Amino acid sequence: MHIAIIGCGVVGAAIAYELSQVPGLKITVFDLKPPAQASTGAALGVLMGIISHKTKGKAWRMREQSIATYEQWIPKLEAVSGRKIPFNRQGILMLLTPEEISKGAQWENLAAIRAKQGWQLEVWDTAKLQQACPQLNTEQITGAVYSPCDRQLDPTTLTLALVDAAMSNGVSFKFGVEVNGFSSHNIETSAGKISVDKVIVSAGLGSTRVTAHLNQKIDIRPVLGQAIHFHVGHALGNPDFQPAITGNDVHIVPCGAGIVPATDYWVGATVEFPNTEGYSLPPDTELLESVKQQAISFCPELKNATITRTWSGLRPRPEGRPAPIIEKLPGYSNILVATGHYRNGVLLAPATAVTIREMII
Ligand SMILES: Cc1cc2nc3c(=O)[nH]c(=O)nc-3n(C[C@H](O)[C@H](O)[C@H](O)COP(=O)(O)OP(=O)(O)OC[C@H]3O[C@@H](n4cnc5c(N)ncnc54)[C@H](O)[C@@H]3O)c2cc1C
Repeated sequence: MHIAIIGCGVVGAAIAYELSQVPGLKITVFDLKPPAQASTGAALGVLMGIISHKTKGKAWRMREQSIATYEQWIPKLEAVSGRKIPFNRQGILMLLTPEEISKGAQWENLAAIRAKQGWQLEVWDTAKLQQACPQLNTEQITGAVYSPCDRQLDPTTLTLALVDAAMSNGVSFKFGVEVNGFSSHNIETSAGKISVDKVIVSAGLGSTRVTAHLNQKIDIRPVLGQAIHFHVGHALGNPDFQPAITGNDVHIVPCGAGIVPATDYWVGATVEFPNTEGYSLPPDTELLESVKQQAISFCPELKNATITRTWSGLRPRPEGRPAPIIEKLPGYSNILVATGHYRNGVLLAPATAVTIREMII
């Protein structure tokens, strides 16, 4: 069976890797750019699985499955690809602000649910927080939730390693090749036409255009996110305890976790919705400034750090329906869609890949 995958962000690459382990499949991946250039290339790679409020149903199962799968994937991918994947095994620390104090009881409840599900979640008071993370200004913080099993990773290195591993299992990648259209058994690309047995659309924002001509348009809209790279020059707080820190929807992420000592941090990201026609607006400098100021208020040392880079990317968000979309395209038994992962594509890539494999075999 010949399967075409359209799009090689983290989702398409994860699907290619997962399917590459199924005997008897011929797989070709198309991307108009090199891998991990679109939304994936802008992502912070924070994997908020256990600390999410989802406790049941598909949304929880996919998070749980992805967190567990990454533990297996990362060492395998590093061995096959020879790449070191920055993978922060020190968990995620969520700072609780006064706005969230009213939700305090929910965190205790969630910790109890997670314990029953076999996962650990700790609710900390400010004394414990200050002891663990002396870099934090706890004036505006009422406590924290520590999730030791959640992770953060470098989405670009991960995607490149997935491509390497899939390639070593025989997958063919066509970069710089745009898919202009397809029918049930043919793909039309900028490099010619090929016949296939199944098509998987994992083209992120491009999914709208590639499905439009089939009269089953998948409406994916861009939600812009901006982020900042800070060079501090040394670790903030305890060099031996460098979790990804999050508060008021702002992440402070140590760079190169598990590979190099923390000296640099990513901070982000803004959430900027498109206009009513679905077109992205220019990046809002005030919103980026407010993300920066929020990070500095949590961690005052960042004020003296050097900003080496700012960047932005577009998150693929399904219009009018929950993210992500993983299904057969209505009316087409051999076209599968895995797209619209919005804010959690890196987190959900492994579970998406497994779901697609289960739909195919
Ligand atoms: C600033 C920012 C921070 C984020 N932080 C996180 C985070 O911490 N954790 C998390 O889980 N997620 C995060 N995300 C979200 C995450 O980046 C996305 O959900 C994820 O990258 C989506 O992956 P994808 O493979 O579906 O899409 P993409 O990475 O956008 O890949 C789609 C690919 O399809 C290709 N393509 C499109 N059309 C065609 C065509 N016609 N022919 C050939 N190829 C085509 C594109 O070139 C592209 O390479 C963040 C996003 C942003 C912008």
